[in-house]
Amino acid sequence: MRKFSILIVLSILGSYFPVCKAQKNPEKVIKSIYNNSQHSDKSYEMLRRICKEAPGRLPGTHELEKAIELVKETLIQNGADSVWLIPVISSGWKEVKKPIVQLILGDDKYINLNAVSLGQSVSSAEKGIDAQVVMIDNKSQIDSLGEAGLKGKIVFFNLKMQERRDYGKMVWQRVQGSSLVAEYGAIGVIIRSLTTKYDDVPHTGVMRYADNTKQIPAVALSWQAADSFEINLQKNPDLKVHLEVFCDNPGLINTNNVVGEIKGSKYPNDIFLLTGHLDAWFNTEGANDDGGGVAQIIDVIRIFKELKIRPKHTIRIMPYIDEEQFNSGIVQYAASIADDKQTHLIEIEVDNGIGVPYGFSIQADSSVFTKQVKWRKLLEPYQIDMLRFSNSYAESWPLYQKNKIILGHLLCEDVHYFDYHHSANDVFESVDKTNLQSGSAALATFIYLLDKMDVIDNSKRKPEEIKAQMSR
Ligand SMILES: [Zn+2]
Repeated sequence: MRKFSILIVLSILGSYFPVCKAQKNPEKVIKSIYNNSQHSDKSYEMLRRICKEAPGRLPGTHELEKAIELVKETLIQNGADSVWLIPVISSGWKEVKKPIVQLILGDDKYINLNAVSLGQSVSSAEKGIDAQVVMIDNKSQIDSLGEAGLKGKIVFFNLKMQERRDYGKMVWQRVQGSSLVAEYGAIGVIIRSLTTKYDDVPHTGVMRYADNTKQIPAVALSWQAADSFEINLQKNPDLKVHLEVFCDNPGLINTNNVVGEIKGSKYPNDIFLLTGHLDAWFNTEGANDDGGGVAQIIDVIRIFKELKIRPKHTIRIMPYIDEEQFNSGIVQYAASIADDKQTHLIEIEVDNGIGVPYGFSIQADSSVFTKQVKWRKLLEPYQIDMLRFSNSYAESWPLYQKNKIILGHLLCEDVHYFDYHHSANDVFESVDKTNLQSGSAALATFIYLLDKMDVIDNSKRKPEEIKAQMSR
């Protein structure tokens, strides 16, 4: 009889404190993380609100400020121990009106092509530009054409992405194309969008004007518009184009990164940082890039709090601004923590779209991550055990460059990423809810294991890295 009542008491306690009991057993905690994540609509609802209430979240817009408020509110609702804003100074560039691109066929006949302004582009002269076109599909053509071939012309950069990996090889046509041809006297630039999607939706992205080079207007055409352009040019090499671009750059503006954290119970000054960018281009809801990433990192706090997982280290979540143009949100954060009393053990940046997650890339020597056999095994049942250690990209990333903080990424399936990227295709409806939730769970699991097993051994890092991190 006594035994029986003890059993009843134990089972009642068990149902009241399921996670406290499970916390000793990582398998059970991870199971509860996945269970919680897959039964919660909160990150999906958060994403819907960011996309529908605050599309086109560039610095200087009402939409970005609205998104900052939404994120702040959600972090508070999710139970973050503290939530605050970090002021950031950023660029207020904007597209005022959709550009006009017309192929002039003569006798008042023309074809309108669907285009979008490139980020940071200047406007055209008030009446626009009418000029002949030079098509370029290879960087070396620029120097061989020179001033004789380019002066007074509009240049059509026509490099075609065939697969996701082409982006890295071709992005120069958008970023540097204008300056490269302005040097030889070109007066405008039209590029084929950097996309893998054959449709009539143009994709924007940032461009840069080199110092001491004339700033000429630049736009991107949809894939289908670029095809039409190419065909018409082949029929008539003397074809003229009319180009009008309407942009404004009011200069610097003040805005904020948002931060929310759970204080570590044992090492409050040691931080695991999760980042995703809140800004999105003017022509998009920014669901995959990167509203979804923001929704996922915010959800990590909710999962930890709902499951009453008390981390030993501090978990800091930072949706930041202006990744798309100058990365000022991260750059200024990197500067602000330089003399900090705290140590950032790792930054995990979540900005690869919302595909099926399958692991993590980590920009560090593998030996820095101890007990790997033990904790990698725990990732296997959830198919997130692919770990890629390397140092190949971190050099250009502000928190690594300045503070030598290890950079990690959530890896997910991304073959269709450039169908959406920087375009009107990147809407809430394009995000798969299960993938979104699995990403939150993968992140929460990874952070839980790093925290629980004290995985990162900072003493095994390169001397200069340790110095940069330990200068407190
Ligand atoms: Zn992004």
